[in-house]
Amino acid sequence: CAKQKGRDNAQVFAPEMASVVVKKFGLEQEMHEALELGQFSLEYQPKVWGDKSHIIGLEALIRWHHPVKGRVSPVDFIPIAEESNLITKIGEWVIDEALKQQNRWRKIGLKLVPVAVNISGRHLIHDDFVPYISGKLKAYELSGALLEIEITEGVLLQDIERCIAVMKALKALNITISVDDFGTGYSSLSYLKRLPIDVLKIDQSFVDECGKHTEDTTICETIIHLARNLKLVTIAEGVETQEQAELLNQMGCQVYQGYYFYRPMPSSEAATLLHENLSFHKVSQ
Ligand code: C2E
Ligand code: MG
Ligand code: MG
Ligand code: MG
Repeated sequence: CAKQKGRDNAQVFAPEMASVVVKKFGLEQEMHEALELGQFSLEYQPKVWGDKSHIIGLEALIRWHHPVKGRVSPVDFIPIAEESNLITKIGEWVIDEALKQQNRWRKIGLKLVPVAVNISGRHLIHDDFVPYISGKLKAYELSGALLEIEITEGVLLQDIERCIAVMKALKALNITISVDDFGTGYSSLSYLKRLPIDVLKIDQSFVDECGKHTEDTTICETIIHLARNLKLVTIAEGVETQEQAELLNQMGCQVYQGYYFYRPMPSSEAATLLHENLSFHKVSQ
């Protein structure tokens, strides 16, 4: 056993491993700096009800403008941040920035729609998570109804009891809870009835092939029916064509997100859309 252990330890110091460790550590250091130096920003991708003129929400997506590397994708740095408490710092920055933006938009007279932030499992179950959010909602004088939390299915497998407690606290603040990338987490469906979830977001990979492959078409249809029976809203993410949108609409999907409607955009462009969106929301409320 000791021998085995020794061999495992030795592996950590193999040159090729060492370079991976150094690279990761480097990126982690750079993310700390990025937070301090203001290299992160948010883009917003609209969620639409029916067609492009009916925006019912925005999803905040983090962007990193690295001074040397240029734009670094969240797909490349979020997983590394998730390995430490850095993800909590980044998540807090995102929440603060998104709510600050809501407050600015309200001050210039825009009719607000809920803004969704992506939250990692480690952050969701952190002791400071709910107090941080409620503090920010107070500071920016916003109702929790203007905030939505997107979490991936995998998160729910980690510590279900803790998740239930946190989500109940979020619901008490009127915050919407969505399951992101639904269908890819390989988790038991029983959590759907134990957790106060409001929305299922059908993963892009199923939407991509919807109408092309029978299996994916069936999966989309099944998720939409499941959601309807559980009284949850379904959002299709990654909708790129009119055909996909029409097919999903026939299946009973309610909300759409994807390049066919809008790409993620800077806050200034999102503000323009909110401005044009005004009349619809006046009518609907
Ligand atoms: P996600 O939350 O599922 O976000 C959807 C991703 O799909 C976004 O990529 C978005 O730009 C992209 N997308 C939207 N519509 C389309 C489409 O029609 N076609 C295609 N091909 N892609 C589309 P992005 O911004 O690169 O983010 C990737 C992932 O990184 C996100 O997936 C999310 O898991 C994570 N992420 C982004 N921002 C944050 C953040 O602030 N915090 C955390 N923890 N994760 C984040
Ligand atoms: Mg998301
Ligand atoms: Mg997703
Ligand atoms: Mg995703």
